[in-house]
Amino acid sequence: MPSWAWTSTIILSLKTSRKSTPLAWAFVVLLQSFLPAGAALYDPPSPEDPDTYLARRRVMVERDLRGRGIKDPRVLAVMEAVPRHLFVPDKLRAAAYDDRPLPIGEDQTISQPYIVAFMSELLELKPTDKVLEIGTGSGYQTAVLARLAAAVSSIEILPSLGARARKLLDALGYKNIEFKLADGFYGWEDRGPFDAIIVTAAASKIPEPLWRQLRDGGRLVMPLGEPGKSQKLIRARKSAGQVSMEDFTEVLFVPLRGAIQKPSR
Ligand code: SAH
Repeated sequence: MPSWAWTSTIILSLKTSRKSTPLAWAFVVLLQSFLPAGAALYDPPSPEDPDTYLARRRVMVERDLRGRGIKDPRVLAVMEAVPRHLFVPDKLRAAAYDDRPLPIGEDQTISQPYIVAFMSELLELKPTDKVLEIGTGSGYQTAVLARLAAAVSSIEILPSLGARARKLLDALGYKNIEFKLADGFYGWEDRGPFDAIIVTAAASKIPEPLWRQLRDGGRLVMPLGEPGKSQKLIRARKSAGQVSMEDFTEVLFVPLRGAIQKPSR
């Protein structure tokens, strides 16, 4: 019997036996040092083990975020802390830390981690900032924003998604998020002006009410482009009432629904 096989047998009997002595465990540890590299001594940790997910998040942060140019230390720390696997459908949990968008129902998607981190970085959030988010979706980006800013007002147009995200974020203990079910095109007038606005669905232009609700010095980040095509991620900055625009990477977001799609606009 190879050494790893009988080590496993010993571990199994140690686990099931009531009187596992420190000496017996020391023996196991000693044996481990003779194992060939890569041989598993313990059962692989269950994917439900929180430490497994933490390890995966750390890989995600190093490989897909820092490795692709995300620098803001606060954003990186938050991406390591927020449990993305809780925001994806149960059957997709194993893929939660892959760098790709995943379906969340109703033909909508949770954005890929890199894009969530990149948009969050572009918003240049300070801990005192007030943020407006259009497109709550799974609530994942909302959780990231809530850890970077003082307050988040998040609007979702689809009731089932809005309700699910709210329930999860409440259960996770977030106290600085308020939710609204509405067409985000109109923003949230009586909560503005906002230091930062993020739109996580695509449109061909910035909705005018959102621009009005942005504070002077504020930043608005969203995907801009024609329906059915890829879009440019843009950041619009308001200074002395004027817009200055920068564009970044090519992205593929679901379209912003509601008023913006009406022909009169
Ligand atoms: N940022 C989210 C979801 C992105 S998908 C996440 O990471 O999970 C885009 C979301 O925008 C969807 O949930 C969609 O229903 C919502 N949406 C589309 N048009 C909207 C509108 N006019 N107002 C508010 N939400 C809208």
